[in-house]
Amino acid sequence: MGSKIKSSIDLNKLVRENVKKLVPYSSARDEFTGKGSVFLDANENPYENGVNRYPDPLQRALKVRLGDLKDVNPENMILGNGSDEVIDLLYRVFCEPNIDNVIICTPTYGMYEVAAGVNAVGIKEVQLDANFQPDVDAVLSSADDNTKMLFLCSPNNPTANLLDESKILELLDKFQGIVIVDEAYIDFAPGKTLVDKLTDYPNLVILQTLSKAWGMAGIRLGIGLASKEIIDVLNRIKPPYNVNCLTQTKAFELLEAVDDCNEQVSTIVKERDLLSTFLSGLSFVEKVYPSDANFILVRVNDAKGLYNYLLADEIIIRDRSKIITLEGCVRISVGTSEENEILKNTLTKFESKS
Ligand SMILES: *Cc1c(COP(=O)(O)O)cnc(C)c1O
Repeated sequence: MGSKIKSSIDLNKLVRENVKKLVPYSSARDEFTGKGSVFLDANENPYENGVNRYPDPLQRALKVRLGDLKDVNPENMILGNGSDEVIDLLYRVFCEPNIDNVIICTPTYGMYEVAAGVNAVGIKEVQLDANFQPDVDAVLSSADDNTKMLFLCSPNNPTANLLDESKILELLDKFQGIVIVDEAYIDFAPGKTLVDKLTDYPNLVILQTLSKAWGMAGIRLGIGLASKEIIDVLNRIKPPYNVNCLTQTKAFELLEAVDDCNEQVSTIVKERDLLSTFLSGLSFVEKVYPSDANFILVRVNDAKGLYNYLLADEIIIRDRSKIITLEGCVRISVGTSEENEILKNTLTKFESKS
């Protein structure tokens, strides 16, 4: 299966008509070539304070740096105000409001459905199987002529597991639309990114982010990786200055600290495994799901009770027990070793009470 290669997709058929027709906004800085030193073209305040100029709309310098880190050509990359912005742009490029639909494999990241709602796009939910893997046949048979995109999240939030690469590749091969593989947590996973499949699958869009392993949730920087054709059409509709100067500068600066980041990731992974083992030993814990991410999904006998007990000790976890197939489940992010100790102490207190 993994050897199959998709030769082409008809992007022309997938992209909305209005997007094909529109004349993109042309910013002042887009309109000259050559070297400038006196900039009187953008109605900026000329007095330097570090942020008086508009940012580079295509974030060229930052993309070169990220491209080196990820082994991707900058022309195969779009940056957004978080990957949430890239998700929204994908809807706006490919999905006609009130006509088109997308498939999500639930339970999964809530933003896919919210962005669909905002854009008046239909959602087809296909449940992940008992091992939280995509049901390839069910996905393919639920697609219709208006199904434009398929979201796969690997490692999946909130179930924490990687999806089988062979299943993702089979879906890339057979699904007649855009397949988005959200790799927000890939740095914590033992499996590897699908970045090297970009050249084989012109319908593949990979989402990554600086919000998780890189520790930059606060600056809002998400990454979309895809064929040049898809990136070009996303660039046509994105807000011209969607990644601000402060974000570009800060990302550039913190990306220098690759070693620190790698060390934090391996510490978090070790802490995660210790915490999983601890959780498995608690009497009120029914199941600790295996994790390939920086959080753990746990099924307990009283999710709401546990949530409230931790809250009273100022420890905040995520109650996921209302989600179909996740009855009784909470999601716990892995903290520092000190934070995890505090959590464990309170969990032990809760155990002796219940
Ligand atoms: C956290 C998360 C993101 C990151 O979103 P940003 O907007 O980049 O912060 C994307 N996808 C999933 C599945 C996530 O859990």
